[in-house]
Amino acid sequence: MCYKNRMTKQEIILASQRYLFPSVFHYFKEPLVIERAKDQFVWDADGNQYLDFFGGIVTISVGHCNDTVNRKVVEQMGKLQHVSTVFANEPQVALAERVAGITPGGKLTKSFFTNSGTEANETAILAARCYTGAHEVVALRHSYHGRSALAMSASGQAAWRLGGVPAAGFTHALSAYCYRCPLGATYPSCNVRCARDMEEMIRTSTSGRLAAFIAEPIQGIGGFITPPKEYFEIVHGIVKKFGGLFISDEVQTGWGRTGGKWFGIEHYGVQPDILTSAKGLGNGTPVGLTVARPEIADALKGATISTFGGNPVTATAAKAVIDFIDDHQLMINAAETGAYLRSHLDELKSKHPLIGDVRGMGLMQAIELVEDRDSKTPALEATAALMEAARENRLLIGKGGTYGNVIRVTPPLNISKHDVDDFVLRLSASLEQVSRNRQSAAASPLPASR
Ligand code: PMP
Repeated sequence: MCYKNRMTKQEIILASQRYLFPSVFHYFKEPLVIERAKDQFVWDADGNQYLDFFGGIVTISVGHCNDTVNRKVVEQMGKLQHVSTVFANEPQVALAERVAGITPGGKLTKSFFTNSGTEANETAILAARCYTGAHEVVALRHSYHGRSALAMSASGQAAWRLGGVPAAGFTHALSAYCYRCPLGATYPSCNVRCARDMEEMIRTSTSGRLAAFIAEPIQGIGGFITPPKEYFEIVHGIVKKFGGLFISDEVQTGWGRTGGKWFGIEHYGVQPDILTSAKGLGNGTPVGLTVARPEIADALKGATISTFGGNPVTATAAKAVIDFIDDHQLMINAAETGAYLRSHLDELKSKHPLIGDVRGMGLMQAIELVEDRDSKTPALEATAALMEAARENRLLIGKGGTYGNVIRVTPPLNISKHDVDDFVLRLSASLEQVSRNRQSAAASPLPASR
């Protein structure tokens, strides 16, 4: 099969600049043009092969162009591609039934499908408002919940809140960013004060009547901020006191990514009222999911529609992804291979002072890069340099974090320890390169400019 693009690499880059909104940014000084992908690899327009340990921003959960998933998708495309939600179809309800069977505690049984994580969160907040009759929502600092006006207002990162005036009704509580504790404390002697602060925050900064609390079990774009095990249980108790529903945004943490469980929130022993997801559920096909306790779903009265939501093709893909994860025990692989990956990242930390923190769960791991471990100043240049070096070593990793200094590692869930070894070689070589350059720059400082 011929995979060559019809446009040259330069034509693609030029056309991106000319015809796309400039807010569609690319990694790297020179954008990397990807031509094709298979399993854990992608190939660029020059035919170079890369090991993909970012999976299209935590989306390729079962490998690029997964044969089992794609076979079912192609079959469905030849049979029924679209009817909209005003007609019943089997793929949509088959997916909803499959999802209902695996949600935390088996209690979230009614689904609403859309096309993205943003829409999934919009739907969750709308349902929470309809159910409680209250309006206010508490979210977390460092969070990311999407790009609509409402989802940007829910997000706790200034860089992702565009458009000037945020929507009313959102207040941001302390996140458990232990590496940069907002209270200057250290876990566990801190007694998780950041979680307990939520009560005073609600009493002083809201009406005291909550529609919902929304949080990512591990903050994705925030840089894989992973709260201590008690955090959500404490927060859950406080939110319930004020009548709020607990929305778990599992856009990044769902579908076994965190290892051993279907959903990230299950590691915290908390029962959410609504769960949202997208990304890894479709393995690249656009899908958004809001799944709720039935009485909450039933409270969203009146007509609402998502033309493409749960369309037969994406619903088929999503169900095939869940089945694949289950059939191949990928939740277990994420825990085991994730632990193996983590041990290597910890080892790299012991070698490179540039790495200030290693955190995450399962196959969702991050390293935070700092100028030095005392000041913890975000190492922005080194992060950019590491991204470029990884590219040279034919490795794709993600960049993120509130301060732009976190490397995010989220390979497909069906990788092996051999792939991790390959990853470690490439990342090590990239880190050595960056460290060497930093050392030689420090040894021969440029004369101060006037
Ligand atoms: N929630 C989280 C936790 C996310 O990471 C994202 C996307 N990065 C979203 C919501 C929004 O999803 P989408 O880009 O599909 O709208």
